[in-house]
Amino acid sequence: MSDRRRRVGGWGFEGERYPLPPDLLQWLQHRLGPCDGRVADTPPDVRLPGPRALPAFPLEIGREPHDRLAHARGQGLPDLLRFRTGTVTSAPDGVVRPTDDAQVEAILRACAAAGVRAIPFGGGTSVTGGVNSVAGDTPVVALDLERLDGLGDVDGESGLATFGAGIRGPALEAALARYGLTLGHFPQSWELSTLGGWIVTRSSGQESLGYGSIDALVAGLTLVAPAGRLELGARPASAAGPDLRHLVAGSEGRLGIVTRATVRVRRRPPVLVVTGTVLPSWRAGLSAARDVVQEGVPLTLLRLSDECETTVGMALGLARRGIVGTLVRRWLAARGAWEGGCLMLLGAAGDPSTVRRTLGDARAILRSHGGVGLGRTPGRRWLSDRFRHPYLRDALLDAGVATDTLETAAPWARLERVREAVGTALTSTLVHEDEQVVVLAHVSHPYRDGASLYFTLFFRCPPDPAQAIARWATLKRAATEAIVAAGATLSHHHGVGSWHAPWLEREIGPAGAALLGDAARRLDPTGILNPHVLLDPTDRLES
Ligand SMILES: Cc1cc2nc3c(=O)[nH]c(=O)nc-3n(C[C@H](O)[C@H](O)[C@H](O)COP(=O)(O)OP(=O)(O)OC[C@H]3O[C@@H](n4cnc5c(N)ncnc54)[C@H](O)[C@@H]3O)c2cc1C
Repeated sequence: MSDRRRRVGGWGFEGERYPLPPDLLQWLQHRLGPCDGRVADTPPDVRLPGPRALPAFPLEIGREPHDRLAHARGQGLPDLLRFRTGTVTSAPDGVVRPTDDAQVEAILRACAAAGVRAIPFGGGTSVTGGVNSVAGDTPVVALDLERLDGLGDVDGESGLATFGAGIRGPALEAALARYGLTLGHFPQSWELSTLGGWIVTRSSGQESLGYGSIDALVAGLTLVAPAGRLELGARPASAAGPDLRHLVAGSEGRLGIVTRATVRVRRRPPVLVVTGTVLPSWRAGLSAARDVVQEGVPLTLLRLSDECETTVGMALGLARRGIVGTLVRRWLAARGAWEGGCLMLLGAAGDPSTVRRTLGDARAILRSHGGVGLGRTPGRRWLSDRFRHPYLRDALLDAGVATDTLETAAPWARLERVREAVGTALTSTLVHEDEQVVVLAHVSHPYRDGASLYFTLFFRCPPDPAQAIARWATLKRAATEAIVAAGATLSHHHGVGSWHAPWLEREIGPAGAALLGDAARRLDPTGILNPHVLLDPTDRLES
């Protein structure tokens, strides 16, 4: 647990900010038009409906308004807008913080008997409406898992470590560092998100190319459900029927509460080096990324920005570097890599000689695709800010610019068509309102057969929160329809939550949805656990 006070209605901790680079604001305003719909930074007093009666639990129930508000919603754009404008209309009636499995069991038993909805709350960083309290007739309790945060056991010989599921990224890595180990799971939300949250949303970290996504890192877990407990012991592999860990991974609190997990850990690499290369075009970048991965170069990280993201990320950075920036730009232009160029970051971890060899092998492939190396500077800058970028969302809102992200994955052969389809959906949707949308994209989790595509969008934020949320919902629906129609996945790593749930059946089919529904009913017969995520097809984008 951190001593720093979490912000409500914004990213991170009180008092921390990421100043908005003036060049970025100017660049956005040039494309969007003047942005004067500033959304107040200080949330007004929020009048939550009074808490309803809850059954007796074997631990204290938090009823204090600030605590209830802090557990009312996650971190998606509409959540931030509602927090900031004091328009959060529903919140849990109480917050409980269990310290062990017995307490979790007792809480779930009491909720099931009284028909109270129970929402597991890890770090609350969901960007899919996963922790949102939906207004309804039955009371809601938030199960904040922050006290299930201990290191249980380290088996150094096998490379396994067991943690309470409520542990956050920094505490988990600090505990492993004492043994010279790492999990290697670094989502951008790492400072606030939790091991249990990562597992049930099937999270991917920025170094997933080297370490794998969380699915690959979980060896065993305990799930506590209203109808019983699932103990899935750590085994290196098993042919004993379907892998139930994969039923829990992605279950988003519908099947039970992950209270503990055993994860696969590795020796901490002595160095992590990230270098930058400019590829002459997005297509050249995609081919180069595919070749690097299919050749099996053991990188830990590969990230390819499209032309627009490259302009924002690199040109603005270079512009701030005065004469050096000008010289680098000229040098790149002379090599045909500036106009339309796409920045690729490559990361390698290990001892210095392995890192040198790995980066050398990758760079040789990139050169054959016209890549021009930029050295370590872009990588250093990215590494030093990688967990601070989310603060920019708040700074942009302060300036009247709304920003959101969405992501998907598709095979290499269809990736470009997906990017075009999503980009067109986003940029054309607000045309009738005469509003522009700026869209950036990157590839950040490549596989042998395809990759994830990640989009960042910017649009002018109307001062009226209902109008701003409606604008966001229109964009979200259009992008999600485009993703599903293109045969790409609803989500590579943010999960389904309540916002993507209406589209899930289109991806997994009626039999798939029925199977998941049956599993949920078996473990949670009265349907009290997070009932509005994953399997509830109601469109809740504007709720
Ligand atoms: C700025 C920002 C950057 C992000 N970057 C990434 C990224 O790089 N990669 C990535 O994968 N995701 C990213 N995310 C999304 C989010 O951080 C992940 O989905 C994360 O895994 C959620 O973890 P959490 O602990 O915050 O879970 P929460 O948000 O608290 O919960 C998420 C869902 O899981 C359920 N849940 C939580 N804990 C448990 C448990 N122990 N047992 C059962 N159910 C539980 C909740 O009820 C909810 O449905 C980002 C989000 C933000 C806001």
